[in-house]
Amino acid sequence: MAKQNRQSVKSRVRMQDESEGMDSHLHQLFLDQLADIYDAEQQLTKALPKMAKAAESEELREAIEMHLEETEEHVSRLEQVAQSLDEKLKSQTCPAMKGLIKEGEELVKDHKDTSAIDAAIIAAAQKVEHYEIATYGTLATWAEQMGHDEAARLLRETEEEESAADEKLTSVAESIANERAHME
Ligand code: ZN
Ligand code: FE
Ligand code: FE
Repeated sequence: MAKQNRQSVKSRVRMQDESEGMDSHLHQLFLDQLADIYDAEQQLTKALPKMAKAAESEELREAIEMHLEETEEHVSRLEQVAQSLDEKLKSQTCPAMKGLIKEGEELVKDHKDTSAIDAAIIAAAQKVEHYEIATYGTLATWAEQMGHDEAARLLRETEEEESAADEKLTSVAESIANERAHME
């Protein structure tokens, strides 16, 4: 099955090569990865509310809720990226995000009602952010290489928000650790 898929991508690309020139392999890879992160972001819009609910610190809950709003924007921004290229995002599953969310949910379950619950949530959330930062950084660079300027701009915007979310989580972790140190 996987082999067949690969062959069909190849023949699809070969046909495009003849009509569009040299960039079509990269363009096809770009569209595949766009579809992957599109699904990943949608998975996240369902997972983040559960993480927020499990958080003990109000600061952490608010940070996750804020990032949920941004994540919803990331979904629609990806639709804008596709529109800017006159393409449609195909629907496919991001197995990596599925795994990251599953691992995060297990972590939360295992540390529920312990003093480490927020640390567990932050760890899971930062793994997710790093996956997204890597994906958007790569996508934006490819878009720049192919001269898809509007797409590149939108992708960089999201990359920056993912980085900011990651940094925010680090600072929440520090402030939770400081609070705990004062209570001892
Ligand atoms: Zn995102
Ligand atoms: Fe993925
Ligand atoms: Fe994110």
